[in-house]
Amino acid sequence: MLLSQSCPPALPPAPEAGTDDRKNQDVSFSLNPKYQDNKMISTNIEKALNAQINAEFWSAYLYLSMSCRFASDNYKGIANWFKIQHREEMDHAYMMIDYLVRRGGKVTLEPIADVPAEWDSPQEAFADTLAHEEKVTSMINALYAAAEAEHDYATRQMLNWYVAEQVEEEDSVHDILDSLKRIGTDATGLYQFDLELAKRVYTAPKAE
Ligand code: MG
Repeated sequence: MLLSQSCPPALPPAPEAGTDDRKNQDVSFSLNPKYQDNKMISTNIEKALNAQINAEFWSAYLYLSMSCRFASDNYKGIANWFKIQHREEMDHAYMMIDYLVRRGGKVTLEPIADVPAEWDSPQEAFADTLAHEEKVTSMINALYAAAEAEHDYATRQMLNWYVAEQVEEEDSVHDILDSLKRIGTDATGLYQFDLELAKRVYTAPKAE
């Protein structure tokens, strides 16, 4: 067979004018069949995951606000660190969305609440970051306990990644706060600190 006879494959003939009745077809089959018929997650866990997705987006928004705050003061390294933090929080939300969809749950995206915009110093911003991450840790722990109470082992397994991630988050911010405590208001120290944070690079998360 000559190549020219088989490639490219012939396109199906276009419908004649006035004969395309696709818009009259029943399209109900396109609704998520998992959500309709095979929901593998309780309404309680579904609601809790949706709340956590909103919290992850709020975290992303918070760190983007911090990034903008320090970018405007020309602390490029601090701005870089918070921008990467922002991207990681977006990943946290996306990963949970993917999981909820795979379990046949319904994703409900609620409005993202306002975030602060002013911090007087890097110390203040990182202290707020630690306080926020501690709060997120307690939220993840509460989700984990809810999944355990319902014997929802799949959700518990998914949350293991988040439990480990929170240990990392709190540890890295603790280290930064220790450095800032030593630096105090020393301008050279802050300059070096900013250069250090400029080295942080984004890496996509690896699911378990
Ligand atoms: Mg997070």
